[in-house]
Amino acid sequence: MILQVNGVSFGYNGRRVLDDVRFSVNPGELMVILGPNGVGKTTLLRCINAILKPAEGAVWVDGHEVLGLTPQQIARRVGYVAQQQSAGRLTAFDAILMGRRPHIQWRVSDEDLRIVDGAIKSLDLQGLAMRYIDQMSGGELQKVAIGRAMVQEPKLLLLDEPTSNLDLKNQLEILRLLRHAVQDHGLAAVMTMHNLNMALRFADKYLFLKEGRIFDVGRPEEISAETVDAVYGVAVEIHRHNGNPLVIPKEEN
Ligand code: ADP
Repeated sequence: MILQVNGVSFGYNGRRVLDDVRFSVNPGELMVILGPNGVGKTTLLRCINAILKPAEGAVWVDGHEVLGLTPQQIARRVGYVAQQQSAGRLTAFDAILMGRRPHIQWRVSDEDLRIVDGAIKSLDLQGLAMRYIDQMSGGELQKVAIGRAMVQEPKLLLLDEPTSNLDLKNQLEILRLLRHAVQDHGLAAVMTMHNLNMALRFADKYLFLKEGRIFDVGRPEEISAETVDAVYGVAVEIHRHNGNPLVIPKEEN
């Protein structure tokens, strides 16, 4: 397995947010973390990436405990796409190239440029490559951030609401691209997402957090209306369409 989260607990200023969270993600698997606002999804991603240090438990990536790795060693293994992107006076090309930094020895190689070019093409950003990122829309910026994480060639990709700023077409493109990247390169990916139907369509596994604990883990076809109701406090029906579960809120009476 690539990621093992081993009984992680975390609190801010003594207020517990995550409690004994444990799960693993294998090569080729895309896991989605679901749950209401403020439940601890971002905090969990930040514990996995060693930005935050768990009070208890440990995170293992590719056989190494992350807290024992240097930032450069982490960057070679873990790509992180945060929810908020900071935009500077940098072209999209340079911003994506920065993702190669953990691999660059003395200077940028032809290989680095080839990898960046490939990411720009697969994200359909050719027309924007020389545009400054502080002149981009939220969705364009989100794609650049995903490109930067991909060219890191990590074993594990962490994505915090990667499609939140994207229109329907771009959401589908990005999720398809992620799916292929995960399958073709044997990566593991963990993303958070609010759109349940999109999440269940593309993820291999879901994990519901409730009050800082794991409430349910399963494959999309295993999701139940009771789980969604219990986690979000919304009564729903689950329908099937082409084998994919569709979560539909019940009409109010
Ligand atoms: P989610 O990603 O599920 O919306 P977060 O992980 O962002 O949730 O937040 C979980 C809880 O921790 C929330 O109650 C939030 O207010 C709190 N929190 C997040 N960041 C901080 C911080 N830096 N300091 C104190 N509390 C925080």
